[in-house]
Amino acid sequence: MTSAQRRDAHGAAAVPRDAGEATPAAGQAATGQAAAGQAATGQAPSSQAVLESCPDALLVVVEDGTIRMVNAATERLFGYTRDELLGQDHRMLLAEGFRSGFQRLFFALRRDVDGGALPPVEAYGLRRDGSEFQGEITCSLVFPAARVVGTAPNPPADPDAGLCMAVLIRDTSHRLEADTELRAAMSLLTATLESTADGILVVSGKGQIAGVNNQFTSMWGIPRELLAARDDDAVLAFVLDQLVDPAQFIEKITALYADPDQESHDVLDFRDGRTFERYSRPQLVADEVVGRVWSFRDVTPARIAQDQINQAMADLAEQAAQLKDLAFKDPLTRLFNRQLFNDRLAGALQGPLGTAVDVLLLDLDDFKEVNDIHGHHAGDQMLIEVGRRLRACVRPDDVVARLGGDEFVVLLVGSLDAEAAAERIVEALKVPLRIDGTMLRPSLSLGLASISEDAVDASELLRRADVAMYAAKTAGKNRYLRFRPEMMAALVERTEMEAGLRLAVDSGQIAVHYQPILSARHGAVVKVEALARWERDGDLVPPQEFIPVAERSGLIMEIGTEVLLTGCTEMKSWLAEDPVRSLAVNVSGVQLQHGDFAELVLAVTESCGVDPRQLVLEVTESVFFDDDCHVIQQLAALRKAGVRVALDDFGTGYSSLGRLQDLPVDTLKIDQSFVSMIHTGAEKLPILTSMISMAHGLGLTVTAEGVETEQQAKYLLRLECDSLQGFLFSRPEPRPLLASAIGRSAAAFTALGGDRVSGNR
Ligand code: C2E
Ligand code: CA
Ligand code: CA
Repeated sequence: MTSAQRRDAHGAAAVPRDAGEATPAAGQAATGQAAAGQAATGQAPSSQAVLESCPDALLVVVEDGTIRMVNAATERLFGYTRDELLGQDHRMLLAEGFRSGFQRLFFALRRDVDGGALPPVEAYGLRRDGSEFQGEITCSLVFPAARVVGTAPNPPADPDAGLCMAVLIRDTSHRLEADTELRAAMSLLTATLESTADGILVVSGKGQIAGVNNQFTSMWGIPRELLAARDDDAVLAFVLDQLVDPAQFIEKITALYADPDQESHDVLDFRDGRTFERYSRPQLVADEVVGRVWSFRDVTPARIAQDQINQAMADLAEQAAQLKDLAFKDPLTRLFNRQLFNDRLAGALQGPLGTAVDVLLLDLDDFKEVNDIHGHHAGDQMLIEVGRRLRACVRPDDVVARLGGDEFVVLLVGSLDAEAAAERIVEALKVPLRIDGTMLRPSLSLGLASISEDAVDASELLRRADVAMYAAKTAGKNRYLRFRPEMMAALVERTEMEAGLRLAVDSGQIAVHYQPILSARHGAVVKVEALARWERDGDLVPPQEFIPVAERSGLIMEIGTEVLLTGCTEMKSWLAEDPVRSLAVNVSGVQLQHGDFAELVLAVTESCGVDPRQLVLEVTESVFFDDDCHVIQQLAALRKAGVRVALDDFGTGYSSLGRLQDLPVDTLKIDQSFVSMIHTGAEKLPILTSMISMAHGLGLTVTAEGVETEQQAKYLLRLECDSLQGFLFSRPEPRPLLASAIGRSAAAFTALGGDRVSGNR
């Protein structure tokens, strides 16, 4: 601010500039000496002495503006002597711009009946040396008869003087400096408070709102009038109404007011979704707590960003879990996979010595048939259910894994009784399950191997469990077996058998035996079944043992062709005698998988000179349900060429009578297990009755297998079974012995007598 501006600003209130003509009052000149004299006496100082010792400049100015009296401080302040001042116009002491207004002031004082002083005004004084200073001027009227209380009466007032004014001038230039600093500090503080993004609230020690910044009101949306009304309760209610948890807010305030020195920092959630950070610290003045400062920061964008980061992290974690799941879980059953099982097994084997580690390896029995007959959906459902049951049989921490296909494994660590767990599993699996409306009875073969001195590594344990499982399958399935060293010998045997079988196939050791089949209608043998025989070191190896090995190794292709070729060759002459006669040959599903099977069969019959119409191929029902429809096509092509198809072992699989009508077959071979239900011949066996009548209804002929007793034969004949095959008539015999076997068979049939119901098929 320039000097001129200052003057304009203060001019209105300044000491009047044109206050009339100065009239010197010489009588006042001696006041200085008088004061000094009184001070020396030790009595109460005279009013004159007080005036002289007053640190502020004191002047008496008469109505026309003339200086009538000054004190010592006036001389000091302005640099004039008393004589130079008395009788002069007071305006000589005021800086340019402050010299007017004396008259107005005078009138204002006069109007005031009490004659009291006006509030001080600020003005600039002018020293003798021309320098200016800032001062504060206070004026009051001096009545001619006024007395100073407690002093001797004033000398009689000059009758010419009339009213005059006492003017007190105080140099305030020192204050200006402090004020400027304070103002600067205040302005800085205000600017800071108002420019911060934080909302600030200051609450007094008594809990009343002492101040807020604009940001506070706008952040909280507090109406100005609410703050102006100074109704703190209403403000609080307004604040609380916006919060998600007002009770917590109150609780925090209460806790802080109980402990005024405490600082705090927390987060407030708003109902509109915003989030504020709240800081609170005591307001201190000279180390004393006089209130509390609250500051609020809107951290909503930061929180939203943080929420997004958290969400992204959660998504990532979920993806990682999913990836881990993919890596370690079987997607179908949600069980662990081979990888995880291997890891856990390796971990378990490195555990403390003496901890039991058991591996239970299991494989569903005849699962392929479930898949083939009921479809993959049913197969999947069964696997899922098996997985569920397995889990229920063991402790939550035990590892249950699906190794692939229908093979599962359970790892027990620290189990007290692994055999009990194996037993539970086998029993649990026996419970039938309903899939797509069909009741299925799962069964499994389980091999159990445990850690021991001679089996400490994972691969050995697994190998042993596998050997035990294979032994359980061989022993008749649907059971568990614990590994025993002898089983290893069986495994070796299996491997040796495969090698031996290959040798046998190559060196022509596979022979064929023929079993006669009696026709009820003809009362004679019109069909023989060719059955493979392996003569090994002088002993006959049962087909049940070597056929599965041949199927697994693929050797069945060569064996099957060999049996067909030998059969056609050896039976050609017998077949040629009567076109009604036929030769039945067993065909494995593996053979039918080969695309050129039909061609091969027809090539063999042709090369042997056998009429295809005299050939019957025996297949089990599972071959019809393979995905490859060329199996059906092959059989259809063969049937077109006159070859007939028999459904072998009927009733043992997962099939049902209902499916029969869809199958491209000519004959049904009822499995021996049904025939063996006939003991006395007097029992009621509706299953046999319906099998036969249904087959007839579909235009199929029926052969009963494994007929061993006359009762069985008679019973079956009464049910109009078309053909009978079994030890009652003849065992399978090599070609040279077949003629007599056929003769014996016919004789045995005749021996059944008139009981037989002659059929017409
Ligand atoms: P399959 O086709 O059901 O053959 C009938 C089996 O029952 C024969 O056993 C036969 O000796 C036996 N059998 C016949 N009558 C009776 C009886 O009254 N009582 C008893 N207990 N058994 C009787 P085999 O010759 O041991 O053949 C067993 C199985 O091996 C056959 O069952 C067949 O599935 C398979 N097989 C045999 N030869 C071949 C072949 O050349 N190719 C294929 N793929 N499988 C064959
Ligand atoms: Ca057969
Ligand atoms: Ca059979």
